[in-house]
Amino acid sequence: MTFQIYPTLEIPETLAAGPGPGNTDARVLHAFVNAGVADHMQGDVLRGMIECKLMLRKIWGTDNTYTFAVAGTGWSALDTMFSAVMPGDKVVAFTNGTFSGIDALTLRIKAATAEEHAANPLDPIAASVTVIEIPHGQPVTGEMVEVALAEHKPKWAFMAHWETGSGRVNDVQGFSDACENHGTMGLIDAVSSLGVADFRIDDFPGIAGWASCPQKGLCCLPLTYAPVSFTDAFIEALKTTGAYSYVHNPIFEARHWGIVDGQDVEKGTYHRTHSGYAVAAFHESLRLTLQEGLAKRAHSYKTHEAVLRDAVTAMGCDVTSDMPSLVVLNLPTELAGREMELVQNCRARGFGIWPTLSAPVQVRIGILNQLNHQSISRIVKLFGEAIRELGGTVDFEAIEALLESRYGTSIAA
Ligand SMILES: *Cc1c(COP(=O)(O)O)cnc(C)c1O
Repeated sequence: MTFQIYPTLEIPETLAAGPGPGNTDARVLHAFVNAGVADHMQGDVLRGMIECKLMLRKIWGTDNTYTFAVAGTGWSALDTMFSAVMPGDKVVAFTNGTFSGIDALTLRIKAATAEEHAANPLDPIAASVTVIEIPHGQPVTGEMVEVALAEHKPKWAFMAHWETGSGRVNDVQGFSDACENHGTMGLIDAVSSLGVADFRIDDFPGIAGWASCPQKGLCCLPLTYAPVSFTDAFIEALKTTGAYSYVHNPIFEARHWGIVDGQDVEKGTYHRTHSGYAVAAFHESLRLTLQEGLAKRAHSYKTHEAVLRDAVTAMGCDVTSDMPSLVVLNLPTELAGREMELVQNCRARGFGIWPTLSAPVQVRIGILNQLNHQSISRIVKLFGEAIRELGGTVDFEAIEALLESRYGTSIAA
């Protein structure tokens, strides 16, 4: 048989109403397609990277010199942060859902000895890593961290800031305090909180490493840059031990962003190829975040999340999350067990909501970059139709009245 070349791939416009990626802002896409072709040592590309670095420090509220971004998605940034964890390092990791669960796997992979890898290559059980599993839907509290660090006295502790699997906000202040108390370096998965929450890295001195992503709060899907930030203590530790990576070693990677030997320099030096398109898009998403202001954006997420939460609650759903960009819910009792069917129906018509990725099965509806009356109403309406399609009852007039009363005068888009 001869090979037929496929037709051009066409991807439809969908409503990205899940935990992420969010709807990429039109300004970001415009910057992406309008960049000229230029190599990774061209002057404006390098200047753009330096400006991104400075904007990231501003957005994240930090003086950490080692604040830059890693080509790729959230896991790329997390892998870069975890690259400082060496075989045999003592780690305590707190998990309360899908993503922190994968983070804990990554930590076991990094900290496992050669023998531990050989015994279980895809899921090594590292004796030096203690994983504290908190049930889905419950938060990691400062007390839990304090107790565990007092007992184990680890070099590293890990937690997700916002666990996107269950839609749970964890206690980052308590985590930082416990790390400070016990001389532990805290590591945070901030993949879903950056660009959504109003917080400053430098307010949490117990935390030595932060890793995030481009496509959630920063609205920058065109596969671009995953932000990271490290304290000097983290970099000192890394200098002492080294890391089993060239590309994801924070010290090497930072050089292209103009950070050499702990100092800002005028121009980056080669680490890997960077895309001018990606730099331009990322740059625009950071400008957008600064222009809007994190305080305003964070407030807006809370306001719109509350409307969505109340609307689905009025449909008989039980919301179990507390994340401002995401609602995680159980369907009304008469539809229990049909979550997957409902999500698949919605996705088939371009309404991109999600199920949970680990037990229990729940429905997740996100509002990334959907912060206006029209978008929230559209999400609510589509979700109500999906419930009715399965035989549930939805009083659309009451829902409409709820939206009107909430948006009528109080919230300007
Ligand atoms: C989305 C997410 C990840 C994974 O990020 P990718 O961009 O898919 O690589 C990791 N952690 C958390 C908390 C997330 O929300």
